[in-house]
Amino acid sequence: MATTLQAVAKIAVVAASANPKKRYLLKQLYTYGRYLKSRFHTKVSKLPLGLSGFTCPNIDGTVAKGGCTFCLNDSFSPNLAKNADKTFLNLESKSNPILEKQLRELEDQILTTQAKMRREWGSKKFLVYFQSFTNTYAPFETIKTLYDKALTYDGVVGLSIGTRSDSVTDEVLDYLVELSQTKEIWIEYGIQSIYDKTLERINRGHDSLNVESAIKKAKAKGLNVCGHLIFGLPGEDQEMMLNSAKAAYEWGIDSVKYHPLYVVKNTLLANEYRSGGFEPISREDYIDTLVKAIKLKPNHISIQRVTAGIDDNTLLAPSWCGLPKNEMLVYINKELMKEGLIY
Ligand code: SF4
Repeated sequence: MATTLQAVAKIAVVAASANPKKRYLLKQLYTYGRYLKSRFHTKVSKLPLGLSGFTCPNIDGTVAKGGCTFCLNDSFSPNLAKNADKTFLNLESKSNPILEKQLRELEDQILTTQAKMRREWGSKKFLVYFQSFTNTYAPFETIKTLYDKALTYDGVVGLSIGTRSDSVTDEVLDYLVELSQTKEIWIEYGIQSIYDKTLERINRGHDSLNVESAIKKAKAKGLNVCGHLIFGLPGEDQEMMLNSAKAAYEWGIDSVKYHPLYVVKNTLLANEYRSGGFEPISREDYIDTLVKAIKLKPNHISIQRVTAGIDDNTLLAPSWCGLPKNEMLVYINKELMKEGLIY
């Protein structure tokens, strides 16, 4: 992160020196990092976890089979790939034979990643991010045990829980509300698109109303909500992507992650792409949509992510999603600066 910020700072300096009149006109976007800094007055980092035993109702056949067409969960969860266990939990599980193993993994990952973040980024506090699969899709006792344990580690100030809108029981939601009285608690929902025909096409397994209701319910209970949006979904034009962003803002999200859709090998989307049924969004169109979405965004909604990619040979297309993050940020900032903004 330090490197990224240094790169961004460099761009700002270059832009400022190239045109001194614009020096004071660039407005820094309200990023999640800036939100956390102002809230805790120190550097807070999100610490991602991938634990054995978690799966997703869209993968295990409960709501659909095969998962979202773009999903190959190992591709965005390296920890999970290394430690995957064959036992999977769901909301009906009566017991959890791998709880001890999950707790060991949790400890290992927290301590290892904390040390790295402290060393390389100067991180002082941490939000433990339950990232892989659907992190509320397990018996309540398991969820409670893992969340409680995560909060005991030195420097941990809260949790961020990545999940699906159809997989959060009232019991879990109320427990998150209870924790939020003393800790920083976030729930992250994949919105992706507000168009049901798109959600069907990507085999999402729930409709848009389901996400809208879940976000509004979490907000009514006072929780912090982050929404994920994907630009470049099959069959969508820019107007549709921006309508999804506008709806997400109106539903009350506090933070947003913007992603481009990219194709990973061995997914359903890869088959669609190879047969010519899906054309990935270009880098230029993605950035143009992103900048427009950011301009439509109310200021109080922080930005957690402006791009995503994968830098190994599992990426099939588009190739620009394999660019290093810093390089993508340079392209994004170049376009943002034309609007007087900087990430
Ligand atoms: S909801 Fe998430 S984990 Fe489940 S299939 Fe879709 S992308 Fe994969």
